[in-house]
Amino acid sequence: MPAPTKKRQLDLSEFPRGTITEYTTLVCLACIFDIFTRQLGLAPRTAFSEVKRHTPTIEELTSRSATRPYFDSEEKNPHCPYCGSAKRWLARFDTVCIEGSKTTHAARRALLKKLPKADEQFLVMEKKSDSRAVFFEWLDTLRGNLDLEDEGWLIDATRMYLERREPKTNWDEAFDELRAVRRSSRLTEGWERDGARLFLAPILYSEALLIQYLVSRSHAHGGVTLEGRLTLMELIRRLRYSGYLDQSGITEREPGEVFEKLIDHLASTHEWSNVSAASDSRVAAKKKATKKKPAKTSAKRSSKSRKSKGTPPEPDVTITEPVKLHYLVDRRDFLEKVKSVYASYAS
Ligand SMILES: [Zn+2]
Repeated sequence: MPAPTKKRQLDLSEFPRGTITEYTTLVCLACIFDIFTRQLGLAPRTAFSEVKRHTPTIEELTSRSATRPYFDSEEKNPHCPYCGSAKRWLARFDTVCIEGSKTTHAARRALLKKLPKADEQFLVMEKKSDSRAVFFEWLDTLRGNLDLEDEGWLIDATRMYLERREPKTNWDEAFDELRAVRRSSRLTEGWERDGARLFLAPILYSEALLIQYLVSRSHAHGGVTLEGRLTLMELIRRLRYSGYLDQSGITEREPGEVFEKLIDHLASTHEWSNVSAASDSRVAAKKKATKKKPAKTSAKRSSKSRKSKGTPPEPDVTITEPVKLHYLVDRRDFLEKVKSVYASYAS
């Protein structure tokens, strides 16, 4: 991907890692103009103003298999795969997807405030989703960022999972020069470094195994974990033996059902991204929750208070929670290219 000018890049450093996903999609203006002028029969001038207003859908911006006039390319000098047009006909949409949660709220507000308002250079769109869909999307991105042929991916996956689960922790330090990840027989929560090894409390370790299994299970038969290649049955047996299933309130016996519960449990926001925020922000969030949208927040509040008492969630409660996704679309490159392309069209 051609690197955008540094100063034009959005500063996303205030967002905890794992709470945002960035997408880049190229669009061929020659193809768009072609559609508007030839297929729809518009005059170039009209086509220009139509194209300028154009905004792709969220699916078009974030899909892993783009269709005309959109495409993805890793090349430095990409060409349109549909009509062969060169760089000056190609515009880039950069999209940031921010997970709506207490952890990202302040940073999102601050970012939106800073954006230029004129000419719709930026667009904000929202999509309702749920913790399960968000979790799978995250897993998908994680898989794309790992090289499963390289053994180091197990540690990388562990790190990305921890960064997401506990965004406030400085994981750079914990993973610096790290050689191995092990289950701690001492800790009941958190982690500790011992030389080049990182010891995780059983819950964190169990979840790391689960994530590794989920990431690699489509890649090969079974899943590869820190404990070797495991079938689903073997993984569940380990999680049961380590006490993870009990701690998570999973009482099912049938492997398929256990698996579904495990996914919901991992994905549910109260376990995953919200609770991991510092306790002070949890208090602030609670205060706010009493004021607005009582129907929506009540589920979260009850899960929080349950969590704060340290008891596991009741097993028969559905813990998939609604999540709002905020999409921020950077249209600056697109608008500039449309202008220059039109100039050459009109002359
Ligand atoms: Zn094209």
